[in-house]
Amino acid sequence: MDTHKSAGIRTRYAPSPTGLQHIGGVRTALFNYLFARSAGGAFILRLEDTDRSRSDPAFTQNLYDTFNWLGIRWDEGPDTGGPRGPYIQSGRFSLYRQYAHDLAGQGGAYYCFCGNERLEALRKAQEAAAREGGALQSGYDRRCRDLPLNEAKRRAAGGDPYTIRLKIPLQDPEGAALFTQYTDRLLGTITWKNEDINPDPVLLKSDGFPTYHLANVVDDHLMGISHVLRAQEWLPSTPLHTILYRAFGWDPPEFCHLPMVMGQDGKKLSKRHGAASVDAFRRQGYLPEALINYVALLGASYEEGKDIYTLQELTEHFSLEKLNKAPAVFDYKRLEWYNGQYLRRKTGAELAALALPFGEGLFKDSPPGPEETAAFIAAMPLIKERINLLAEIPEKIGYLFTEPPLPPPAEFFPKKSDLAQTLRLLRIGRDLVRPLATAAEDEAESLVKERAAQAGVKLGDLLMPLRVAVTGARISPPLFGSLRILGPDRALARVDRALAALSGAG
Ligand code: GLU
Repeated sequence: MDTHKSAGIRTRYAPSPTGLQHIGGVRTALFNYLFARSAGGAFILRLEDTDRSRSDPAFTQNLYDTFNWLGIRWDEGPDTGGPRGPYIQSGRFSLYRQYAHDLAGQGGAYYCFCGNERLEALRKAQEAAAREGGALQSGYDRRCRDLPLNEAKRRAAGGDPYTIRLKIPLQDPEGAALFTQYTDRLLGTITWKNEDINPDPVLLKSDGFPTYHLANVVDDHLMGISHVLRAQEWLPSTPLHTILYRAFGWDPPEFCHLPMVMGQDGKKLSKRHGAASVDAFRRQGYLPEALINYVALLGASYEEGKDIYTLQELTEHFSLEKLNKAPAVFDYKRLEWYNGQYLRRKTGAELAALALPFGEGLFKDSPPGPEETAAFIAAMPLIKERINLLAEIPEKIGYLFTEPPLPPPAEFFPKKSDLAQTLRLLRIGRDLVRPLATAAEDEAESLVKERAAQAGVKLGDLLMPLRVAVTGARISPPLFGSLRILGPDRALARVDRALAALSGAG
């Protein structure tokens, strides 16, 4: 495969399918996507499924579903046969193997014959020495590093199990310690003493599978990745990757380690803080637009005083200069606020289409019949301003589908009213049910105002017992709209039930 360096900015999201997609991963993907799009470059998806025991097709499916739902599209990938499919590392193992052997042949890596047993014993000895106050030594002791290549190749060819390890250069020819330096686009210049880097990490495992480091570096090079935007947990791997690029004779890409995403307790965002998987947010009725908008602000600042950004606008605004160094704090309330904003921008029909799957528990039949569906759609404008999550809908409009339990008498009383006065108000209200349930929206208000004036009662007082009788609660979505949806007969039956209960309560 040719490299694509000439093609300008190329970024990638390179998840391992070992868990559900969560907020942190989506933020990484989104920033890579926005950066590529903002520069007219390409954004690719690469599945890093080198750890076969932890990779699971269910997680791969979750990845596709998540990005499909979010509307974040990647650009290419021949491995799946589709032009937009992702690259999949498990289909490329022989390639990595070849690169590892080539590097060993050139002296940038070496064959290691230390088996698990020896490595385990080494680790134990190191731990014991550290406990006794010795120098803290950890990792591989580089025993096979200086085996002559011919001998190593002969042993390997003879069937001795081996790994291939990166040979991290420690000293220059004069014996001076070597350092590795790279410039992170956000964090600045970072220098590591080579001796402090994980000693000679494995590139190719004894089963012939590549490690993350090898496959990641080979692919970033072959795929012409110009910028690696990734989570800060990968920061310790970057000096090692830089050495590996140089060992191959390749230029490393530019690195940018993204600000951490924390929970409000200052700890790394995780399940402990509540929903962190995108799936869980989706099931609660978050909209993809809201999630994208909020996540794009985690660790980046765009325009002062502007909160709402579409994906398209974000593409126009995004640049690496707008990233913050400080960790971002994930605020569930803020995300909920965003969701409310996006819900209010939907038309009634759009909202109904999104909300219908959340209404299942409300309906007699599944799928709901035409009447129930019509009632559900009609209810959307009544609640649009009152919800932040689609999952709140059933609880808000349940009374339109099932008669609510009858509240105790005192619930019906307007402020400062007694039972007798409440009964009087509800009787007046009863006479209004039919006209209100059939009146046009703009006539209802004047109708009740007139009647309240005639009876010499406050409008609010007149409506309170009627509201409680019809909706089952003192606070509810708009009463007139509710009456129109219920229709006069069902509404009257509820009022009569309340009247009977109140009459018997005295
Ligand atoms: N496969 C790594 C992950 O799961 C990729 C890290 C990187 O971006 O280099 O996050």
